[in-house]
Amino acid sequence: MSERVHNFGAGPSALPLSVLQQVQAELLDYAGTGMSILESSHRGKAYDEVHQRTTRDLKTLLGAGDSHEILFMGGGARSQFAIVPMNLLLGGGSADYITTGNWSVMALAEAKKQGSARELWSSVAVGNDRVPAPGDLEPDPRAAYLHYTSNNTIAGTQYHYVPKTGAVPLVCDMSSDILSRPLDLSLFGLIYAGAQKNLGPSGVTVVIVRKDLLERSSARLPDTMSYARMAAKQSLLNTPPVYAIYMVGLVARWLLEMGGAEAVGRQNEQKAGLLYGTIDGSGGFYRGHAQKDSRSRMNVTFRLPSEDLESSFVASAAEEGLVGLKGHRSVGGIRASIYNAVTLEAVEALTQFMAEFQRKHG
Ligand SMILES: *Cc1c(COP(=O)(O)O)cnc(C)c1O
Repeated sequence: MSERVHNFGAGPSALPLSVLQQVQAELLDYAGTGMSILESSHRGKAYDEVHQRTTRDLKTLLGAGDSHEILFMGGGARSQFAIVPMNLLLGGGSADYITTGNWSVMALAEAKKQGSARELWSSVAVGNDRVPAPGDLEPDPRAAYLHYTSNNTIAGTQYHYVPKTGAVPLVCDMSSDILSRPLDLSLFGLIYAGAQKNLGPSGVTVVIVRKDLLERSSARLPDTMSYARMAAKQSLLNTPPVYAIYMVGLVARWLLEMGGAEAVGRQNEQKAGLLYGTIDGSGGFYRGHAQKDSRSRMNVTFRLPSEDLESSFVASAAEEGLVGLKGHRSVGGIRASIYNAVTLEAVEALTQFMAEFQRKHG
C-alpha cells in the first residue's frame, strides 16, 4: 500500500482511518451474513439494523429528543436548495435568505423558482469575507422561514452564534460543519447536510426536521421530495443509499466513541487555532481571507504575496504529502479544509510546512 497523504480537500474529504479499515474488513462479509452490506436488501434484517442504529446514533450526537425527525435523502445538499422551499414555502408567504457565499446564493435562486423569497442580508458585495453580526439582522417576523449557511465552505467563514428568529423557523445548510461542535437543536426548524464533508461519503444528505413542519408538505409533492412522506416511511420509501448510510453510521459511532460534538469541537478549535496562529504570526506573508470574528474552523482560506507563490505552495505541499490545498477558483489562494476527520497531526504537518515555505520564499 502506498503511504496515505494528509488530505485537506473540501469535499469529498478525509474520513477517519479506523472507519475505512472497518469498511475494508467488512466489505466481503458483513457481520457474518456471508455477503457484503452492498449486496443486502434494504428491507432485510442486516440493513435494517444499520439504518436504525445510524438514526439513533445521529440523534444522540445531535441531542435530538422526540421533537425532530432524521431523514436520509438523495440528490445532495443542492437538491435541498429546492426541496426546502417546495415543502416549507408552497403554502404561501415569503422566506428570508442570508447570502454569505456561492452555496447560499444558489439556495436563494432555487427558492425564488418555487415561491417568494428575499435576500435579508448579503456579504457578496464584500467578497464574502464575513457573516453578519447578530445586530445586522432584522428578520421578517411573518417569514415562512429564515435560511442561512452556518459554514461557508468556499470563502472560509462561519457563524459563531445562531441567528435569533423568534417564532420563524430557522433553516440551516450545515453541510460543511454539522457535528463539528455542540449545537442546540431546539433553535432549529430544519437542518440539512450533504454527508461528504463531515459525516461520511457522498451519496446521502441528512435532513433533520422539526415534526410540526412536516404538516407543510403538500400531498401534491413528489413522494421522494416530500419530507412528510419520507418521514412516514423512515426514509425507506424507495431504496436508500445503503452504503453511504452504513458509512455515516460508522462515522457517527467513531464520533460517539471520541466523546461526541463537545470533544470533537475542542479538537477542531485547537486545529483551527494552530493554522490561524501561523497565518497571523507570519508578518503578512500569509493573509487570511475571512475577517477575524467570522473565521471558519472548518475551511481556512488564505492568500500568499503572489499567485505564482500560491501555485508553488500547492505543488511543494503535494510533494510533502499535503494535498487538496488549492483554493476555490472564486476566492483563489489556499484553502485548508480541516473537518472532523483531519487529525491534529495533519494540521501540525501543514503549519510546519507553512513556516518552512515562508523561510524559503518570504
Ligand atoms: C458542498 C456544499 C453544498 C453542495 O453539496 P452537494 O451535496 O454537492 O449538493 C451545499 N452547501 C454547502 C455549504 C456545501 O459545503
